[in-house]
Amino acid sequence: MPEQQTPQAETGPRPILPILRLGPKPHLVGSKCGSCGAIFLDVRRVACSKCGAAGNLKEVELSDKGKVWVFSVIHQSFPGIKTPYVTAVVDLPEGVSVKSNLVDVDPEELEKNPQKAFGMPVELVVNQVATDRQGNPVMAFQFRPSKS
Ligand SMILES: [Zn+2]
Repeated sequence: MPEQQTPQAETGPRPILPILRLGPKPHLVGSKCGSCGAIFLDVRRVACSKCGAAGNLKEVELSDKGKVWVFSVIHQSFPGIKTPYVTAVVDLPEGVSVKSNLVDVDPEELEKNPQKAFGMPVELVVNQVATDRQGNPVMAFQFRPSKS
């Protein structure tokens, strides 16, 4: 009878995407090309799409602050998703763009005054959005107007 080994239990919050790291301080990660310095919002990349170098990508921490490039107010979504909400593309100082939702904003206010949103400084926040089958919290990231 084979010895039964209990796999190390991994419990606790789970990031919804591999580019999200939860601790010690929540942040996004990307891949930086060691040949040309290009940064991508992706940690599974095997080659640089800018210079073509392969196997020379390193994970880097990305800034938790950025600026809204474009946004859209979503009025219709899947059943169970509360609308309206605001989705946006946020530019990070590393030259990477992230698609995410904006929270702590008034969707109607932004529709009336869209110029308020373009270029708005925002910061990363992480919230629980679901629970997985093992009961672990599933964490997703959003951006909110910067408080500092
Ligand atoms: Zn490169």
